Amino acid sequence: VELFDAVPQAPEDPLFGLMAAYRKDTHEKKVDLGIGAYRDNNAKPWVLPVVKKADKILRDDPDLNHEYLPIAGLPEFTLAAQKLILGPDSPAIKEGRATSLQTISGTGAVHLGGLFLSRFLPKPTPAIYLSNPTWANHNQIFTNIGMPIKSYPYFSAKTKMLDLDGLLSTLKAAPEKSIVLLHACAHNPTGVDPTQDQWKQIAEVCRERSLFPFFDCAYQGFASGDLATDNWAIRYFVEQGLELIIAQSFAKNFGLYGERAGAFHFVAAPGSKAQDVTKRVASQLAVLQRSEISNPPAYGARIASIVLNDKALFAEWEEDLRTMSGRIIEMRKSLKAELDKLDTPGNWDHITSQIGMFSFTGISEAQVLAIREKWHVYMTKNGRISMAGLNTSNVKYVAEALDDVVR
Ligand code: PMP
Repeated sequence: VELFDAVPQAPEDPLFGLMAAYRKDTHEKKVDLGIGAYRDNNAKPWVLPVVKKADKILRDDPDLNHEYLPIAGLPEFTLAAQKLILGPDSPAIKEGRATSLQTISGTGAVHLGGLFLSRFLPKPTPAIYLSNPTWANHNQIFTNIGMPIKSYPYFSAKTKMLDLDGLLSTLKAAPEKSIVLLHACAHNPTGVDPTQDQWKQIAEVCRERSLFPFFDCAYQGFASGDLATDNWAIRYFVEQGLELIIAQSFAKNFGLYGERAGAFHFVAAPGSKAQDVTKRVASQLAVLQRSEISNPPAYGARIASIVLNDKALFAEWEEDLRTMSGRIIEMRKSLKAELDKLDTPGNWDHITSQIGMFSFTGISEAQVLAIREKWHVYMTKNGRISMAGLNTSNVKYVAEALDDVVR
């Protein structure tokens, strides 16, 4: 039988389509500001020196084999990942109310979290609130799982800063037990993060309104260069006694993009039932994982685990994080300085006040297309640029291009 004659053509993934267009472009000055992957000052992918070392240690191990990992993944990895994200002295770890599974990078963790929510939340399944805008895949993942999606205001186009009032008033009006997806740091796509004081207000609303926080943490250490600073919000929410879940990616901070190393964490609220709840949740997560991927891929997790569990290598990793975040912060300053020099119309302070891999330039879709046509500078339609695509050789050119299209 022919069952699929009517399958409609799906649109191409916008980001991967953009990458393909960039590859095809033969212009010598072309610049890729699309993809969210770190590039060094020569516009080349960067294998972290500490990852090279860990890789060698791994390959030199005569006992290395290719057996399956356990369903929940490599225990040395998940425990180290848990300590990294919650903090080594986290009350949740001490009190045995955190449980973690290794996942297919951050995407797999978001998906597992969504699946868990849709399966075990009281029916009818409450909505998950996503920031407007958010990482495009959030919408896709939760839609596929069948979770109702709502959004909360996040970015003010006028101030190019956080729309705190909009965010708080929407969450205050959200039905109890709604899920709130929060970017732990380096918000994608805007590069705008709440301040610590703003995070406190968000946590307060979550408590007051019985909302359930779901943190997506794809850039720990990559934003400020400091692991604890970048995870302040998660640790604060845990300290406040909120029950929550976390999706953690090691794609950016270890440069392990294609190895798909990540973790999903559940943290129960403190109390006499906490350990028991955690145990039961862990058992159900294992069932979901088994049916989805059976068990996670080993290589990336082994690399990360070698680094995370060795004091000296860990310190080297922190150095590598400072190299990546430092270069990006420098590029923000250079781009801003070049735009200042050109006296480019408009206010560009957001280029340096935003943080992490991305910057929301605020240019229109028409300007995005113009800069691609005329200057061969590639960015997503919403005007987001990946700061990692800038380097000392192209930043002046990109500033000229931006200047040209906004005039
Ligand atoms: N969440 C956000 C907000 C992201 O930006 C990313 C990376 N683009 C991810 C999750 C997950 O990426 P990965 O699956 O490669 O870890």
